[in-house]
Amino acid sequence: MSPGRPQVYDVIVVGGGFAGTLMAHRLGERGRRVLVLEAGVRAVNAAQGHRRAVDSYLAASAKVPGSPYPSHPAAPWPEVTDLTGASGGGYRSDGYLIQRGGLPYASGYVRANGGTGNVWTGLTPRMHPEDFRTDLFGYGRAWPIGYADLEPYYRAAEREIGVAADAEEQRARVGLPLPHGYVFPMRALPPSHLDRLMAGRLDGRCVKDPGAEDPVELRVVGTPHARNGVPNPSYEGGAGYVPVGASGQPDQHNRCVGHASCIPVCPAQAKYTPLKTQARWSPTVTLVDRAVVSRVLVDGTGRATGVEYLSYGDGDGDGHGGGVDRHRVTADVVVLAAHAVENAKLLLLSGLANRSDQVGRNLMDHPVLLAWGLMPEQVGPYRGPGSTSGLEGFRFGRARRRRAPFRIEIGNWGWVWATGGPEGDLAALLGPAGRQGRGRLRGAALRAAVRDRVGRQFALQFEMEQGADPANRITLDPGSRDALGLPRPVATYDLAPHVRDGIAAAKEVSDQIFALLGAEDHSDYAPGPGQPGHFVHHGRSYAFRGAGHGAGTHIMGDSPSTSVVDEWQRCWDHPGLYAIGCGSLPSVATSNPTLTMAALALRSAERVEGELAARDRPVALHRRTAPATTTTGDAS
Ligand SMILES: Cc1cc2nc3c(=O)[nH]c(=O)nc-3n(C[C@H](O)[C@H](O)[C@H](O)COP(=O)(O)OP(=O)(O)OC[C@H]3O[C@@H](n4cnc5c(N)ncnc54)[C@H](O)[C@@H]3O)c2cc1C
Ligand code: SF4
Repeated sequence: MSPGRPQVYDVIVVGGGFAGTLMAHRLGERGRRVLVLEAGVRAVNAAQGHRRAVDSYLAASAKVPGSPYPSHPAAPWPEVTDLTGASGGGYRSDGYLIQRGGLPYASGYVRANGGTGNVWTGLTPRMHPEDFRTDLFGYGRAWPIGYADLEPYYRAAEREIGVAADAEEQRARVGLPLPHGYVFPMRALPPSHLDRLMAGRLDGRCVKDPGAEDPVELRVVGTPHARNGVPNPSYEGGAGYVPVGASGQPDQHNRCVGHASCIPVCPAQAKYTPLKTQARWSPTVTLVDRAVVSRVLVDGTGRATGVEYLSYGDGDGDGHGGGVDRHRVTADVVVLAAHAVENAKLLLLSGLANRSDQVGRNLMDHPVLLAWGLMPEQVGPYRGPGSTSGLEGFRFGRARRRRAPFRIEIGNWGWVWATGGPEGDLAALLGPAGRQGRGRLRGAALRAAVRDRVGRQFALQFEMEQGADPANRITLDPGSRDALGLPRPVATYDLAPHVRDGIAAAKEVSDQIFALLGAEDHSDYAPGPGQPGHFVHHGRSYAFRGAGHGAGTHIMGDSPSTSVVDEWQRCWDHPGLYAIGCGSLPSVATSNPTLTMAALALRSAERVEGELAARDRPVALHRRTAPATTTTGDAS
């Protein structure tokens, strides 16, 4: 704190999304005065806000992640619909994120209070110990910490967000070294009908992976979830766990009831969102919404002192109508938690933390290859969460050297991600005769055809680990500005040969799995409007999608010359400045990233608290004493 100047806040947190909400929560619990500045809009009343989100989603013609949260021009975000594939290959981009890469960065995020965690799917696997050392396999970057450093924080995150999983299965089938006796807060969600069918046909069978020397044994494994299931009575030595229900209140009976609209909104509020944690914030945490941080302030020594932000009113955010005001606010610690892309944008805008020239670089995601088909029998799609189980055997081992490792998610939501969902199938069946060999069906014939077509749909999602590559990056375009006059971010993105080899291997594995299932393969990667991620590799067509797992843009490391933040997510170059979230991840790993990012945020919160405690410690006063005199002892 500057001497003589009153200061209201100990910490400013930029962004009320996943990472920022957890950081503010932990510091609030310690009585710290925290100001959360949130670019998006916050509902005045949580219950009403939820109702409005569900209504907006129902009314939206395109059911995309942002549908429940109409974007405001003052805080725009990239949406998956911004990208269109060209018929001869290539893509067109028409949105907030400017795209200049050989391939598009195909993921969006959400700038509304609660952030992208409002719309996420809620899958929460941990990283495997091997994931922390991709450098040993010849790609990516090593973490400055290992699994053991993060383990206690994984447990803290699993408690905070309420994870349902089977500890024994995670130990035995994924190889996670969970502490002796540990169980998750809630029991695993039941496998879907499709999971059971797959397990019956695949468990114990082997496929040839072109990257591996030995055949890989298949095993359907339950996926950890941040959504309410049945509380585990053995949790915490028999203390049990009370799920957090609608609007953050404890509710023993709040359970996932299978609405199947987790992306983008769970009507039952069984899925965790940061709003549940916000409902339990201490009164020392203050959230100001419609506050777009535009600059981080530092003093002459480089120490962070606060931020500048632009607030907008109810108008359209372009400076007309609602009005825009500029503010400055100070604190001892500034924590950037605005999402991987927006954190990089803020550091670049401020000209800070870039001694290593790594700010904005190493942009990663999990490029996804989708494979979709029809099972010989009904599989009961469009019930429950998007994926309840997966195949984990392609994540580890020496094959990582030859191709990107991948998780396979078994998709419960038919072809919705691949081709747009059952409405398209229905339209085809109702449409002109001859289309898809059918057409003009009505009544019982139509019902039978829909049941046959939609009821047998399934998809496999192969999520590739993408190594840190400095050429994949976020920069700013000063010539292209948003409604507040801030430069728009530019993505330069491509897939390295290692990732392309992973995608090719995944397709070969997929072909064998489809054969074992006796399923018809309808996957189609021909270039066209729905395939902006189309590319050709070794003469074959593929197309990838983005997973929404943006990472790496303020990468963590053990040296200020090669990384932006240290193992505590402190910016090397600026005392008092933290950048948290997936942007810190040195590798995006073979697991969905958010649980790891949440564990890191809770770990960093301890370090911030330590800094504040050191500030508050009374300074020891030393009494002036007389100079020491030498006495000669009298030995007599
Ligand atoms: C469709 C989808 C599904 C996903 N499913 C999963 C999953 O199943 N499992 C998983 O692990 N991950 C999943 N993810 C990823 C997950 O949602 C993100 O990793 C996570 O939300 C990132 O958290 P964050 O706090 O870093 O950023 P965010 O959650 O995006 O929060 C950032 C916040 O900062 C605010 N902000 C931005 N700019 C500013 C500014 N200048 N000033 C003030 N505030 C600002 C934003 O409004 C927002 O509230 C999914 C993502 C998507 C898109
Ligand atoms: S399946 Fe339904 S109830 Fe369960 S988390 Fe998803 S939307 Fe909510």
